[in-house]
Amino acid sequence: MSETKRGFVRNTKQREVILSVLRGTDTHPTADWVYQEVRKELPNISLGTIYRNLRILVESGQALELSFSSDCSRFDGNPENHYHFACTECGNVYDIDMPVAQGLDAEAEKASGHKVMFHRLEFYGICQACGGGADGDLQ
Ligand code: ZN
Ligand code: MN
Repeated sequence: MSETKRGFVRNTKQREVILSVLRGTDTHPTADWVYQEVRKELPNISLGTIYRNLRILVESGQALELSFSSDCSRFDGNPENHYHFACTECGNVYDIDMPVAQGLDAEAEKASGHKVMFHRLEFYGICQACGGGADGDLQ
C-alpha cells in the first residue's frame, strides 16, 4: 500500500518497459541510466518521454523518486516505504532491510500539530565497498 497512490493508471507499452527496467535493478538509477537501458529495447524513445513516464509512475504510486543532497533524482521500482543508505564517497544508494518505524508519523504529528501522511528516511555514510564496514556484529 503506497501513500502516494492516486488511483489506477493504465500503463502504455513504453511505460511498461520503463517500469520493468526500474524493477530489474536495485541500484536506484537516474533517469539517464533508465534512458540508456530502455533504448536497448525501444531505440527511438526520447529522454523527454522517459522523464514524463517516470513522473507518471511516481505520481500513480508505482515507483518512488528519491532526492539525495546535491544529486539528481534517483528512481526506485519498489513503491513501498523503505529506508535507504547513501554513500557519500561513491554515491551509491542501497536499500536498508529494516522495519519502517511505525510510531514515527504519530510522534511527528504530535510534536508539530500537522497531519502527517508518511515519512522518508535516508542514512548517509561510507558503504562497505568504499571501506566503511560497520563495527560490531552486523551481518
Ligand atoms: Zn561507497
Ligand atoms: Mn529502494
